[in-house]
Amino acid sequence: MFIGHAAAGFAAKKLAPRASLAWLLVAPWLLDFLWPVFLLLGIERVRPRAAVSPFLNLDFVSYPWSHSLLMALVWGVLFGAVYARATRDRRSALVAFLLVVSHWAADFLVHVPDLPLWPGPSPLAGLGLWRFPAYTMFVEGLLFVAGLAVYVGCTRPLDRTGNLALGGLVAFLLGIYWLSLSGGAPPSHLAIAATMLVFGAILVPWAAWIDRHRGDPAEGDQSRML
Ligand SMILES: [Zn+2]
Repeated sequence: MFIGHAAAGFAAKKLAPRASLAWLLVAPWLLDFLWPVFLLLGIERVRPRAAVSPFLNLDFVSYPWSHSLLMALVWGVLFGAVYARATRDRRSALVAFLLVVSHWAADFLVHVPDLPLWPGPSPLAGLGLWRFPAYTMFVEGLLFVAGLAVYVGCTRPLDRTGNLALGGLVAFLLGIYWLSLSGGAPPSHLAIAATMLVFGAILVPWAAWIDRHRGDPAEGDQSRML
């Protein structure tokens, strides 16, 4: 799942209007940003492979620390706690927690059974929508449009940048999604890890930039905490 995670972050702005879009987009992607770190540390493993479906190019050999249900809850609690400490906004902290956990739920829908429930010997979960590429794209696309619509509905551009920066990010996300679908298996686990980390390093400042140029439609601009 890729743009489906963005959908959750965009839509969450309605529930947590004071939270920066940067936090709201990092939260649903947090497990995928921890994953490359654990790959590079050698404690999780992935194997690229050529497959019929563009969604099955990766063999998730082992990723219990980033992608088990139990650890998703743990990371969610930690992320929510860090957010609450940094901003004293408990409502948004709860939303951040839910967003982190939403990653596991979204992955559960699409992954073939490879998601552990906890580290160590564990059953593997996944409903396997990835076996049907057209349905996967339809569901993810629908989620993305819906999430984006909620975000656009509960914010307004404060200037031209407010729309341009958002449109640019949407094009960027769709471009990466398209590339990932048409690109085949990545060359190595290092390439996968590097791509995810670079993506995160671009996403965070971009989302923060959008947030500074879009405000609450009812109240006008208000200071936000990143
Ligand atoms: Zn994931």
